[in-house]
Amino acid sequence: MAEPLFDTYGRKHDYLRVSLTERCNLRCRYCMPEEGIELSPRKHICTREELLWLIDEFIRLGVKKIRLTGGEPLVRKDAGEIIDALAERPVSLAMTTNAVLIDRHIERLKRAGLTNLNVSLDALDADRFLMMTRRTNFDKVMSNIDLLIREGFNLKINCVVIRGMNEAEIPGFVEWTRNQPISVRFIEFMPFDGNRWQTEKMVSYAEIMDHIREYFSFEKLEDAPNDTTKHYRVPGYRGNFGVISSMTEHFCGSCNRIRLMANGAIKNCLFSDSETDLLTPLRNNEAVEPIIRQAITNKKAKHAGMDNISKQTNRTMTTIGG
Ligand code: SAM
Ligand code: SF4
Repeated sequence: MAEPLFDTYGRKHDYLRVSLTERCNLRCRYCMPEEGIELSPRKHICTREELLWLIDEFIRLGVKKIRLTGGEPLVRKDAGEIIDALAERPVSLAMTTNAVLIDRHIERLKRAGLTNLNVSLDALDADRFLMMTRRTNFDKVMSNIDLLIREGFNLKINCVVIRGMNEAEIPGFVEWTRNQPISVRFIEFMPFDGNRWQTEKMVSYAEIMDHIREYFSFEKLEDAPNDTTKHYRVPGYRGNFGVISSMTEHFCGSCNRIRLMANGAIKNCLFSDSETDLLTPLRNNEAVEPIIRQAITNKKAKHAGMDNISKQTNRTMTTIGG
């Protein structure tokens, strides 16, 4: 068994987020520009075999949990085959998806035991969904979420809150947890290239809680180690809600994440503007393990070493994978 991946701050890195593709079938305002993004040339994207080889290398180095993300992971043509292959690996498997294509894949997800799903949804109203995503898939997404709940999936709903766009949705999302066994997570809007982030558009953790307090009384739940969410529940409700406060209260101290992108590069921090190419060395038959170890060693204590992440330059979220 290889030595696990520790950084210089003693954080063990055993959670790999894999972006299967840079492409997406939605155009969420906080993530992708209307015209889409410039995609990497096809030859710079990992084939299925290369991606699985790299993932296996991380598993050998102690990765225990893998989350598939993107872009939209399910728009990758061989996403199904990748899920089948990963079902055989000794890891806990999860996925973040916009749920547009879930009905086409649900049987496969069940077979693979991939029942931990994070679904992005920023509005419970069709018009606001269209405004947030610039696409008309609201009914499809809602029927797919119903399907996932009926089939007993463990569902978290990710809702990015943007001032002037969807704060009014917050109470409706909390009310949704009354009868549904879901966990709704409100996410602070983060800056990435091309998403027109402004401080004023970010609704903070404290403000989100104020919105909720106007309508509900709630209790704090215990959070798991490495959890990025602060969890709460309205007493008597089946589900719960939480806030991911990446901007106002960072959780870097317990970070255990590595991000592998569709082009075979890794990022040691979501906010880092540098990345480490693993695909070229893999194609050149060079050892990849020392390159991975060096990238983890280079990880900074918090937010890629920046004092002010709102001034960062970085890729779009859709190429990094959330
Ligand atoms: N397409 C899939 C989806 O939307 O669930 C997976 C990829 S998406 C980039 C992963 C997560 O990142 C989503 O939950 C999305 O809400 C979140 N995200 C994207 N841009 C963000 C931003 N600027 N601030 C906060 N969260 C963001
Ligand atoms: Fe696509 Fe997800 Fe980004 Fe929305 S958040 S544009 S669904 S990658």
